[in-house]
Amino acid sequence: MNILDEIAPKEPQLVMNLAREAGINVEDWGNFKGGQSKAASNPKYCYEWSFVDMQNGVVVLNLWHENMKELNGVVTYELNPRKHSEWLNRGTVKNRALRMDTSIAYAAKSNLPVRIIVCDGHQSLNSDSDARPRRASKRALDAVSWTIKLYDQNTGKTILTRGEKNAHKYHDQFDTLEMPTTASKSRVEVTVHHRSPQVRRDVLDRAQGKCEWCGQVGFVMADDSIFLETHHIIPLAEDGPDTQSNVVALCPNHHREAHHGKRATIIRLALLDRFHDKD
Ligand SMILES: [Zn+2]
Ligand SMILES: [Zn+2]
Repeated sequence: MNILDEIAPKEPQLVMNLAREAGINVEDWGNFKGGQSKAASNPKYCYEWSFVDMQNGVVVLNLWHENMKELNGVVTYELNPRKHSEWLNRGTVKNRALRMDTSIAYAAKSNLPVRIIVCDGHQSLNSDSDARPRRASKRALDAVSWTIKLYDQNTGKTILTRGEKNAHKYHDQFDTLEMPTTASKSRVEVTVHHRSPQVRRDVLDRAQGKCEWCGQVGFVMADDSIFLETHHIIPLAEDGPDTQSNVVALCPNHHREAHHGKRATIIRLALLDRFHDKD
């Protein structure tokens, strides 16, 4: 079955229950004139587009199933609630959109995975008016957490992907230096140039554990992650940029060879040819 079909909501579930299941504290939902028995329809909460529980570090977003896109098994979702809020006339709805932007900003800043309530039903997300209310007829909490792939603080543009970032699946030589058991002396020697941890992570993710020179899988570390070394094709000392197109993941042997081997120049040129200008 197609992933999108798999995550499509099959039944009309209550937002409150799904938010609770995701880890949101919903105790306050019952504090309104409708009372505890009507907690699930507390208007202060039940129409919200997002939920944040800072105490538990949980962020939940309501997303429309029909706006999810799948490519090669990766599900993505593009949204911009801040921009969306500009099209909305009613203050209450506008504020929901703005709160959703704030929720995303919080998750992005705190590097939190987000939980998604997948909604199906009539929607007017891209409509220029909110005259037609958004009504979800079916909902489901996606069992898989999502990752904020991009959040542009200036514009509010957001891209989410389904699945958690495998932040610790791959490690390089700097991760091992960051481990507290290593002598701090060597740390000083290698951190002369600033290296972006995000670039290293992205390169390790791109390499998927395989040396980008020989294709062999790096060795498995004690914690089951795969070890490869990140290497600047044009060294930082030669003003090479600290970007994905100038950084490769190499097995330790080929990393040494890229620096000290007879073939160092050949390796550099071949890597340049393969990776440069591909950002
Ligand atoms: Zn190799
Ligand atoms: Zn290197």
